[in-house]
Amino acid sequence: MMKLAVICANGKAGRLIVKEAVRLAEPERKILTGSRLPTGNRVTEKCLLYKQAGQGYPDSRSPSRLFVPGRKGGILMQAKNYLQFLAEQAHTVVMATLDEGGRPVTCAVDLMDWEEDGLIFLTARGKNFYRRLKANPHIALTALQGRDTLSSTAVSLQGLAREEGPRRLPGLFLKNPYMERIYPDEDSRRSLTVFQIYEGRGEWFDLSRRPIERASFSFGGAAAGEEGYAVTSRCTGCGQCLGVCPQGCIDLGRVPAVIRQEHCLHCGNCMEICPQKAVIRRAAK
Ligand code: SF4
Ligand code: SF4
Repeated sequence: MMKLAVICANGKAGRLIVKEAVRLAEPERKILTGSRLPTGNRVTEKCLLYKQAGQGYPDSRSPSRLFVPGRKGGILMQAKNYLQFLAEQAHTVVMATLDEGGRPVTCAVDLMDWEEDGLIFLTARGKNFYRRLKANPHIALTALQGRDTLSSTAVSLQGLAREEGPRRLPGLFLKNPYMERIYPDEDSRRSLTVFQIYEGRGEWFDLSRRPIERASFSFGGAAAGEEGYAVTSRCTGCGQCLGVCPQGCIDLGRVPAVIRQEHCLHCGNCMEICPQKAVIRRAAK
């Protein structure tokens, strides 16, 4: 079945349609101009049907462009697009903090908003989560979307979080009205406070594509990481590495061979088998 995504006009209604369109596109349903979405809105002529080879995510703030993470060729690949995906499409993520003994603790956190160089979430000052954040600003999070492993995309991120206080709370409740059902009035929101993840780096990983796709990003001044493997000048072009590469992502058309990083699983098979010890691990900075 041909997969379709919809890019819609500006404005609240447009963004709502975009959200619904993405939800419908995931189970590979066609969305055609004039069809009615669960919101009651119709996909109008303002919307642009975009035929795509794989999953895509409309950039609701730039509706004339399609955001397909990890893809090249005029498609947005900036850090802010990954942050937008995390806040608006994944929304609920699993976040790790460290306790007083340095042991990791995870919890589910809703990302309330995103910025050019940051992510916004809130918590209550009475929670252990708050105490852990105040004691140690290092966080890690993962968001996963998909029906099963082979239809899933994930974004993982490591960064630093700082408390901003309650100033943004009214705006965040407007943007996330379901929060009113959890904290129904001003009194119940007394202990809430806002945190910003202001610096970090992360990775997009898409298992729904063949070969798999991955892409790295950083924001807030964090150094971009270069992980995985690379082939050095010791390579003789023998080809043994390609024979054990599960993604077939080693280019033997030149010597030294080149690993296509955007498709690499980081399994290490190539390094283990290379008779020249030409494959090295790229260290994260
Ligand atoms: S196995 Fe080693 S020497 Fe042979 S092509 Fe791969 S990287 Fe080069
Ligand atoms: S690390 Fe694994 S997936 Fe990546 S190039 Fe080497 S063998 Fe292929």
